[in-house]
Amino acid sequence: MSDDMKLVEVDCLCGSRDLKVLYERPYPRVLTEVDFNATTDRFDAYGRIVRCRECGHVFTSPRPEPELIARGYAESADPDYSQEAPSRAINAHLCLATIRGFVSSGRLLEVGCSAGYFLNAARADFSVTGVEPSRWAAAEASRKFGVPVHAGSLADAGFAAETFDVAAMVDVIEHLADPGALLDQCRGVLKPGGFLYLVTPDIGSLSARILRGSWWGLRPAHLHYFTKATLTSLLEKKGFETRLCRSYGRMFTLDYWSSRLKNYPPLLRSFVEKSIGVLRVRDKFVYINTRDSLEVVAQKI
Ligand SMILES: [Zn+2]
Repeated sequence: MSDDMKLVEVDCLCGSRDLKVLYERPYPRVLTEVDFNATTDRFDAYGRIVRCRECGHVFTSPRPEPELIARGYAESADPDYSQEAPSRAINAHLCLATIRGFVSSGRLLEVGCSAGYFLNAARADFSVTGVEPSRWAAAEASRKFGVPVHAGSLADAGFAAETFDVAAMVDVIEHLADPGALLDQCRGVLKPGGFLYLVTPDIGSLSARILRGSWWGLRPAHLHYFTKATLTSLLEKKGFETRLCRSYGRMFTLDYWSSRLKNYPPLLRSFVEKSIGVLRVRDKFVYINTRDSLEVVAQKI
């Protein structure tokens, strides 16, 4: 992506234009596909984040045109993503443990399946299919795991109505220009009584409220920021009943966790890095629940 960005103002999901600016860090003049990678270091320059005075939803406005965002995802390639392969597999099993509390067999669709770690873990119990906009990631998923992945969007995948027992989206809904349309499409391909599984950052969390404009969840690639209340209200509007909504933790090596501190004070980061070096625990797996991501299971009604 080399052309200058055109930014477009958007209304709230509820249709209101009565918006309050929460945080503002202007976008770089040009966004590149690097900004759309899962492991991007670009946390600053997330644009203008606003809260709707009518319904309380938080989102980014203005933002790049939908065509530029779509092209960014299609072209993004992220070789660093596989560096933490064992952690990604473990995290997939943590998600699946939650899903199995509701449904333990049938057809599972993952939207935004990246390089296929979750699908690979899920196929022990489910017949799996993925959708992934990044051509690179979709090809990786096929090459590594041989799982069927449609390179593109759910809208153009052409699945028959009422095909799947589960639709899963891990760290996906916040990237979509129109999350309501995505939920409509998920509802369309789910069987009656089928389950939607979602993970997304929680802007209503304590750490988001303390860190404010420096919170890790604020990124140029994120367009919507949900709280428990705004997410469950959108799900209800779209014909889903929320069956579970709780904070979500992740398992990574200490080396990875410390690399995620890039946005925080250098003193803190160097202290953490030195400590794990001295203790020789770089590769140790640690489960951390920072209580600022939401894990949701909702049922099609
Ligand atoms: Zn609103």
